[in-house]
Amino acid sequence: MDRRNFFKIVSTVSAGVATSSCGKKSDALIPLLVPDHEIVPGEEHWSPSVCSGCGAGCGVIVRVMEGQRTIERNGEKFREQIACVKKIEGNPLDPVSGGRLCARGQAALQSLYNPDRVRGPMRRMAARGNAGFAEISWDDAIASVAEKLGKARASDPKKILFLTASQVSARTLSIQRFVESLGAPPPLTCSASGLETERRAADSVFGWKGLPRYDLGEARYALGVGADFLGGWASPVYYARQFGRFRQGRPGIRGKLVQCESRMSLTASSADEWLPLRPGSEPHLLIALARLLLNEKLSRNAEELPPDVEEAMLSANLADLISTTGIEEKRLRRVARELAESEAPLVISGASVLHTNSLQAVIAAHYLNVMLGNVGKAGGMFPPIPAPADGPQSANIPLALKGADILLLDSENPVYAFSLGSAVTEALTHMEMIVSFGPFIDDTAAYADLILPDHHLLESRAAVVPAVSPKRSVAVSKQFIRPLYNTRAIEQTLGDTAHKMNIAFEPVTPEAFVKPFLPAGENWDDVVRQGGLWLDAELGSSALKPVDAKLAWSDPVFEGAPEQYPLLFQPYLSLQYHDGRGANLPWMQELPDPTSSSMWNLPLELDPQTAARLEVTTGDSVRVESAHGSLEASAYVHPAALPGVVSLAIGEGHTHFGRYASGRGVNPLSILAPVWDISGTGLALGATRVRIRRLDRKGEELIQFSPRDREQGPWGYR
Ligand code: SF4
Repeated sequence: MDRRNFFKIVSTVSAGVATSSCGKKSDALIPLLVPDHEIVPGEEHWSPSVCSGCGAGCGVIVRVMEGQRTIERNGEKFREQIACVKKIEGNPLDPVSGGRLCARGQAALQSLYNPDRVRGPMRRMAARGNAGFAEISWDDAIASVAEKLGKARASDPKKILFLTASQVSARTLSIQRFVESLGAPPPLTCSASGLETERRAADSVFGWKGLPRYDLGEARYALGVGADFLGGWASPVYYARQFGRFRQGRPGIRGKLVQCESRMSLTASSADEWLPLRPGSEPHLLIALARLLLNEKLSRNAEELPPDVEEAMLSANLADLISTTGIEEKRLRRVARELAESEAPLVISGASVLHTNSLQAVIAAHYLNVMLGNVGKAGGMFPPIPAPADGPQSANIPLALKGADILLLDSENPVYAFSLGSAVTEALTHMEMIVSFGPFIDDTAAYADLILPDHHLLESRAAVVPAVSPKRSVAVSKQFIRPLYNTRAIEQTLGDTAHKMNIAFEPVTPEAFVKPFLPAGENWDDVVRQGGLWLDAELGSSALKPVDAKLAWSDPVFEGAPEQYPLLFQPYLSLQYHDGRGANLPWMQELPDPTSSSMWNLPLELDPQTAARLEVTTGDSVRVESAHGSLEASAYVHPAALPGVVSLAIGEGHTHFGRYASGRGVNPLSILAPVWDISGTGLALGATRVRIRRLDRKGEELIQFSPRDREQGPWGYR
């Protein structure tokens, strides 16, 4: 749909709403057929908004039914104006979503109408962690926060910690301004999907700020390494659209995808070829490929490679690198040749499962793209479009919590993300004050002293810079339905608190956020009506060359004695639950897993050889033990799981997260070793060794949509 038609639809429908009148026959007849509370007789209109299901920042359009109904109160009849959000789709004008959405985006409806939303400000009435709260007025809540923040500011503002999403948005900028006005450190982020490694690698090699964009749709041959870009990585809808074009969108051209991962992810199962890589050997694989290109004189752009990097590649022991990956040499040689011979080769690398050395892998992949000569070219890798500010960064959050007295939480959930022994909960127990602004009580909000609930994003104004976009983009949302409950926008709550504290603070409005980018002839109303601002971006040629030469590789660290804990454990981001925030939505619980077809609880995937040795079959209950904890899960014997590697989706196992998620399943992050990646900012999700034993009693039942496996093999490693 083009811009003109989009405007036409919006204005036609709006006119319909404006001229609808009460007293229609339908108003009287429909209630006889359908219960009063279920009908919305009236007109539909579509309003643009932004999805908050992950950090991708997809632009959406929301179908709202508006109308009137008759209600009876104290014996009197009233006409009441009502609106109901019925459906969410991708915004066809948005260059990220392009009119498409993923399942979590569709399910945002269920977070708006979720029965467990916090309906107004609340104060803690029970011990921390027990989620016992009672209602309180907004005035009392703001006064309490202002008083404690005032004391903390006077004594040591460095002990105030704000956790929020890693996105760049009007909201995160407002939070940055607020903590600045307190003299507190910049806000931090703690999600397992924060993509800090990918940002650091781009900065390290090219000096880029943000995530590179991979032009998969124009590539002819793509090598994916460690990045499940059709699953939970970076911007799933954008890359799914790109993948569609790569495969079928160009007449006569079909791109070939070779995916290297140590789990058969959604991307690996969609690839032409899957190279089952030993966990943590991504840097070794990429440097081996680079070395093969150099050996065979297949690098088409070797002059751009910094001499130190080339020297490091040439100093590598090729045989050692290849044997570390577990991939046959002849396969790797073929992939190197295919990459070199392709008209438009591309390497997409990321850290879907973070290892201690993932940063080295993504850096190596960038140098490989330089050698292939694709940086800034159609079908290659592009620099991020400059954003108006940097987003919040990841850090060692348990350490940061230990040093804080006041914790302000914007829907981040460190108790779930860092169940490392009792370090996080202990730090929370000793906090002076914890305030949660989230719309739900999750594992960490259960420790809060005060909950000052934000509106749902569909009830809010917002301006969000997408994680990746082919254009200079800001997705925008206006408030088009009245908030359902006694909630307040976080920007207003922060403003009210600052006012009470007598400190100068001005939140960043979406309009102010977008204004510096508005070109002549465009105005804010147009931006709001179309749901965003999208401008062509110029590429500076200097930004396309490496600015530094830091190529290194090291073996991954795995914690736990191999004799005691012989298996490697991989928690992964699933399509359904992402970093855990989708688990309270019944549609996501009900969505059959693409691998095991299980619902309402994802199983532990293990390979047939290990399963046979342990006498485990699909549906058995097993105990998974690391040196740091244990959990019980249903087993799924996955024909394509790597021998000796077991995987479990992140998302379930919340102590608190509403009726659909609390107490359901297990949290794989709860048994991880406290091992950090080489940058010291990310918990290495793949660094824990475990052992498994079958339990004789039945645990939670494995519910499968279709218990029959799909046709098997060939899976590549046999
Ligand atoms: S990719 Fe993320 S932002 Fe886009 S629709 Fe899915 S959950 Fe929403």
